[in-house]
Amino acid sequence: MSTPPLASGPEGPDALRPLLDTVLDALREGTAARHGPLPAGGPETVARQVQDAIGDVLPPHGDENALRLVVRTLAEGSADPADPLCAAHLHCPPLAVATAADLAASALNPSLDSWDQAPAASELETLVTRALAREVYADGDQGDALITTGGTESNLLALLLAREAHSSPQLVCGASAHHSLHRATWLLGLPDPVVVPAPAGTLDPAALDEALTRCADQRLRRGHGPRGSLLVAATAGTTDAGLIDPLPDIADLCEAHGARLHIDAAYGGGLLFSDRHRDRLHGLDRAHTVTLDLHKLGWQPIAAGLLAVRDTNNLAVIHHHADYLNADDDTEAGLPDLLGRSLRTTRRPDILKIAATLKTLGRQGIGALVDQVCDHAQELADLIAGHPRFELYDRPAISTVLFRPAGATDDTVAAVRRTLLNQGRAVLGRATLDGRLWLKATLLNPHTRPGDLATLLKLVEGHTPA
Ligand SMILES: *Cc1c(COP(=O)(O)O)cnc(C)c1O
Repeated sequence: MSTPPLASGPEGPDALRPLLDTVLDALREGTAARHGPLPAGGPETVARQVQDAIGDVLPPHGDENALRLVVRTLAEGSADPADPLCAAHLHCPPLAVATAADLAASALNPSLDSWDQAPAASELETLVTRALAREVYADGDQGDALITTGGTESNLLALLLAREAHSSPQLVCGASAHHSLHRATWLLGLPDPVVVPAPAGTLDPAALDEALTRCADQRLRRGHGPRGSLLVAATAGTTDAGLIDPLPDIADLCEAHGARLHIDAAYGGGLLFSDRHRDRLHGLDRAHTVTLDLHKLGWQPIAAGLLAVRDTNNLAVIHHHADYLNADDDTEAGLPDLLGRSLRTTRRPDILKIAATLKTLGRQGIGALVDQVCDHAQELADLIAGHPRFELYDRPAISTVLFRPAGATDDTVAAVRRTLLNQGRAVLGRATLDGRLWLKATLLNPHTRPGDLATLLKLVEGHTPA
């Protein structure tokens, strides 16, 4: 075999073009061979199919058909969020334009740890992150945003910034807050979070007030400073139900108690793009830090996370020095210092696909997608509410609909979900709320039609024992 061609350089495009045809053909074949939102047969069957198709993963001699084979195998065995019946998680179908842009990121391979590896990509990142920070902090010209791998890394960074600003802050969050916050406290050596019960699914201001008073007293007695040593994490779009915490009330309480505020808007942050729904994030700009995740309500290929930060002085603590990447004399001579924009070193330009999407669709275009999936959730809720064999948890707040077959046990609910998975017919999620198990439909596909929603319900109905 001759030396394989490269993706970039003058010959890159010509080398890539036939390979892309192969990839696109394999995507088409694999998707057609799957016949549904995910492969049928469950984990053992899929594992065997992959093993049989791929065979020796590192053969002594190469196989020029491998690209087609590997991509086809992946497509055939994927849970495809572009299928309207694949609606379990905050797992979005990426836009074609974003995926196409991402190809250029892979081809050129800029790395955002130093300017000399990413001259234009670093400027693009500056422009887009500032613009997105302005979406969150409309009045502030101080704000900025860091690119992350997703909500988990954004939450970790938010807690790190809080830890550095206030020694060992106590995190106070609702029971509906994302699990990554708990892990972040563990990783950062912070005290275990104080979890405020959230029986209604959102952080209750009265209960938060009480928890903050109690925590401040305790910390005073233990010799910690009273102010700023408490960190509240609120959620705009809970993972289980898509509910938005009462942000203005929580921000008021944080002010009254001198607590720092982080808002995890990994899911709900996308509402910022919608004229119809943006007001529901009122109070977001009062947070010190805000988690956003454009691989949810932003239709990006993974990864596309952000952490918006109101006061960029907060970012000084992650400044880092490595002579080969940001020597002082280089920085003084005007080479941008990128190392303080992430905890990672080599870093993919995830900004490229985001930039291409924002500019291609514009605010209205993205807002329309947000509105569509929110509308779909209302339509599904209507179908469920009007159906005698189903129970609706509540009206959807964003695009998550929780429901269960009327009168079913939790075991039945869990079994229906697994049966649909094993048969490859539908991908639904699960959530325990109200002490009961619910089926969860997270609608993120703007192409879903009303008939698809009816099909989803028919499938569940058909697989529920009478
Ligand atoms: C999805 C989610 C996260 C985690 O984001 P990842 O991108 O999966 O790391 C954090 N918080 C909330 C509220 C989420 O829904």
